[in-house]
Amino acid sequence: MDNLFATRMQNTQKSFIREILKVTENPEVISFAGGLPNPRFFPVREINDATNKVLAENGENALQYSTTEGYQPLREYIAYRYKKRGILVDADQILITNGSQQGLDLIGKVFLDKNDGIVIERPGYLGAIQAFSMFEPQFHSVPLFEDGPDLDRLESILKENQVKLMYIVPNFQNPSGITHSLAKRKELAALTSRYNMLVIEDDPYGELRFIGDDLPSVRLFNEDKTVLLGSFSKIVAPGMRLGWICAQHDIMEKLIIAKQAADLHSNYFSQRVVHQYLCDHDIDEHINHIKDGYGKQRDCMVSMIAKYFPQDITCTKPEGGMFIWVTLPPTMSSLELFDLASTQNVAFVPGTPFYVDGGGSQTLRLNYSNSDEAVIEEGIKRLGSVAAALKTKPTVDLG
Ligand code: PMP
Repeated sequence: MDNLFATRMQNTQKSFIREILKVTENPEVISFAGGLPNPRFFPVREINDATNKVLAENGENALQYSTTEGYQPLREYIAYRYKKRGILVDADQILITNGSQQGLDLIGKVFLDKNDGIVIERPGYLGAIQAFSMFEPQFHSVPLFEDGPDLDRLESILKENQVKLMYIVPNFQNPSGITHSLAKRKELAALTSRYNMLVIEDDPYGELRFIGDDLPSVRLFNEDKTVLLGSFSKIVAPGMRLGWICAQHDIMEKLIIAKQAADLHSNYFSQRVVHQYLCDHDIDEHINHIKDGYGKQRDCMVSMIAKYFPQDITCTKPEGGMFIWVTLPPTMSSLELFDLASTQNVAFVPGTPFYVDGGGSQTLRLNYSNSDEAVIEEGIKRLGSVAAALKTKPTVDLG
């Protein structure tokens, strides 16, 4: 069969993720590996009410085919929420997608030919790496510092290469938890606009800030050349599979064609239900509830790491979102730690799949949103003891 597969499928990396899923299938395993929101915050009863209302009041319409762009009142709602954050867009600039993950695929379809240049963060969001890889682009990656991307490195990449797109997750990035500072947002927008390229600003976690003040969207510093991606996955529920792309009209036209070819339109019933839910409830109150919970889970994980991990292991201290990024000392490997941790029924994602150009073998991602505090304490305690055991393991001297 191998010779029948398209060449693009040869570049996709999947094996290690499959390995992790095998470990986390065991219900005994404490998993910090997934990227799942906490189901305790899913508005199950409210979605049930909204579903009944949509079916009772507009059932026949809600079960019909609909427009590619998405349910107009939902698009208006998203534009209205953007306006409250100073992002002045109208509903025509919003395309409802099957999760923001589909947004990545559509962007790839609309912009990327084989070998086109795209810059991503290092480490970068694995789902974006996978989605863009389908178009066989030339990846360039820019290291992330504590306050965002290394802009000197970005500038030298842009000087030396033809680059069409830069993909960023400026708030509480997946996988690192890092947030771009205000200064970096401005500089990044100025730099990329000089090189006449498009910035894809993916922001599924921006509303989940539990420490400090919100920072302005990168789009505000380069309106014409920034496309925003958003999602209901982390503020309502991922199973509804609803996200959106916010883009200028000329880009929107192409995206709609690509979307139509892909699936005609996003699940219309789901759009109606989520819209009904948003009309009948105060989403900000719900988001505050989630932030309160995740803030406590994050504090718990950070303090348990300080208590149980060997001192030379460092981690990010995110101000929002769902992930902590851990860096081991150079003598330790996160793959070895993964193997040892799985014998103690704890799982995480080793860092290497988040690097498109190799490296990251001393890094790993921990998710705190999907585990309650008692589980976090127990899991981090177990991880700390396997890390201490790995540290004392004699290393083979290859010198
Ligand atoms: N972008 C980022 C940075 C993510 O972390 C995720 C989900 N893990 C997505 C996009 C996709 O989310 P969804 O398709 O559920 O909106």
